[in-house]
Amino acid sequence: NPELARAEELIRSVPDYPEPGILFRDITPLLADAEALRVTTQALIEPFLGTFDVVAGVEARGFILAGAAAIAAGVGFVPIRKAGKLPRPAASVDYSLEYGTATIEMHDDLPAGTRILLIDDVLATGGTLAAGRHIIDRLGYSVAGISVLFEIEGLGGRELIGDLHTVFRSA
Ligand code: 5GP
Repeated sequence: NPELARAEELIRSVPDYPEPGILFRDITPLLADAEALRVTTQALIEPFLGTFDVVAGVEARGFILAGAAAIAAGVGFVPIRKAGKLPRPAASVDYSLEYGTATIEMHDDLPAGTRILLIDDVLATGGTLAAGRHIIDRLGYSVAGISVLFEIEGLGGRELIGDLHTVFRSA
C-alpha cells in the first residue's frame, strides 16, 4: 500500500530522547499530514470493524489515534488516564515503562461486557498496553482487540501482549 508506505516515512527516529540510549519514534509529522493520518487510522481499525463498541486510548499519545479511530469507526471514545485525572476512578493499575513507572485509571460507567478496541501509538516493552488490558478486564469490559501504530521490536512487547495488530514495526 503506497499510501501507508508514505505515512511510515513520516515517522522520525530521534536518538537519546527522552534519555540517553533510547531511540524515540516521533509520529508527530505523520499526525500533521491529513492523508497519512487518515490511512493509518483506517489501518488501525480495519481488522476489528464490527467487533467493538468503543475505542479506548491511554493518556496521552494514545488519545490522539484512539479519538481519530473512534470517529472513523463511528463509535465512542473512552479515556484511560494517568493517576489523579479522573473525577471518579473505579480501578487503578500500576505498571512499569521503558523509562519510569506510572499508574492508570478508568471509569466504570460503561455497560458490563462493553467490547473495547484498545489503541496506542507505539508498543515498546508492552507495559502500557498490558496495564490497559488489565484495567479493562478488571472493570468487567471485554478487550475486542489491541491495535498499535508502531511496534518497536526487541523490547519484549509482542511477547507480553501476545495477540495484537500493528500497522508498522521497526526492522
Ligand atoms: P511501553 O509501555 O510499551 O514500554 O511503551 C509504550 C508507551 O510509551 C506508549 O504509550 C507510547 O506512547 C510511549 N512510548 C514509548 N516509546 C516511545 C517512542 O519511541 N515513541 C513514542 N511516540 N512513544 C513512545
